[in-house]
Amino acid sequence: MTFAACIIMLAGCAAGKQARPADYAGSRVRFKALIHYTEYAEEAHVQFAHQTIDFYRKLTVGNGFQLDVTRNLADYTPEELMEYNVIISPNTTPHSKAERELFEKYMDNGGGWVGFHAAAYNDRNTNWPWFLQFIGGGVFKCNNWPPQPALIEVDKAKHPVTKNLPEEFVIPASEYYQWTPEPRANKDIEVLMSLSPKNYPIGLKDIVYGDDWPMVWTNRNYRMIYLNMGHGDEEYIDAEQQLLFINALRWIVSRDPRVEM
Ligand code: ZN
Repeated sequence: MTFAACIIMLAGCAAGKQARPADYAGSRVRFKALIHYTEYAEEAHVQFAHQTIDFYRKLTVGNGFQLDVTRNLADYTPEELMEYNVIISPNTTPHSKAERELFEKYMDNGGGWVGFHAAAYNDRNTNWPWFLQFIGGGVFKCNNWPPQPALIEVDKAKHPVTKNLPEEFVIPASEYYQWTPEPRANKDIEVLMSLSPKNYPIGLKDIVYGDDWPMVWTNRNYRMIYLNMGHGDEEYIDAEQQLLFINALRWIVSRDPRVEM
C-alpha cells in the first residue's frame, strides 16, 4: 500500500466513523433561540404561537440548536438575553417597560429577531416610538377578514430567504395586516415578499381593494425579519411556507458573527 493510499484509507475511516444518523450526531449546539409569546391574545394568535413552538422545537432534533420558551423577557438579565442568537415572536411585542427596555438593548446590540403577524401590531395606544422605527414606521391600517389563503410573490428572488422558493405561491389561510405609512417607502426597509395584487379584492367581511401590501421585510439597521402571516391553526400545513419560516430563522441566525452556518 502506498503512503497516499494509506492516508486516503485513514481519512475514509475517520469520515465513516462520523457518518452516523443525524439525531445521534452529538450535542454541539450551533445557536440558541428564544420564543417569546403570550397566552393573553385572541385565540387564533395563541393557536399560532403554540404551533410555532412545536414547529421550531421539532427542528432542534439532533441538538442543532437550543430552543427556550418564555412569556416574560424580564425574567432574563440583559447579559442572559444576549446569549440568544435570535428571539422569535409569534404573537406579541414586549409590553412592560422592563421588557421593552430589554428588547431595545438586545436589538441595538446586535440581537436577532423573527417576528410574525401580531408581533408587529401597533396603533395609537402602543406608545413605543423605538418599536415603530424598528418595524419600519408602519401603523396598523386594515386587514382582510375572514382569514383566507392568498397568493404571495417574491420581490427579491436572490435573497437567502427567498432563493429556493417559487416566484409566487399560495399560502394557507391567514389574516394579513396592511400598514400606514407604507413600509416600502422607508429607505431602511427591504421588502422581500408581497401580497400579489391579483388577490384584490380580498376579504368577505373586511374587504381590501388595493394598495401595496408587503408580506415579508427586513429593516437594514437591525438583524430582523418580519412575516405578516401568523393567524390560526393552518399556518404549518404548507411545505413552501414552512421553508420560508426556516429560511427566515436561518438567515437571521447566520448573520450573527458568533455563529457558523
Ligand atoms: Zn390575526
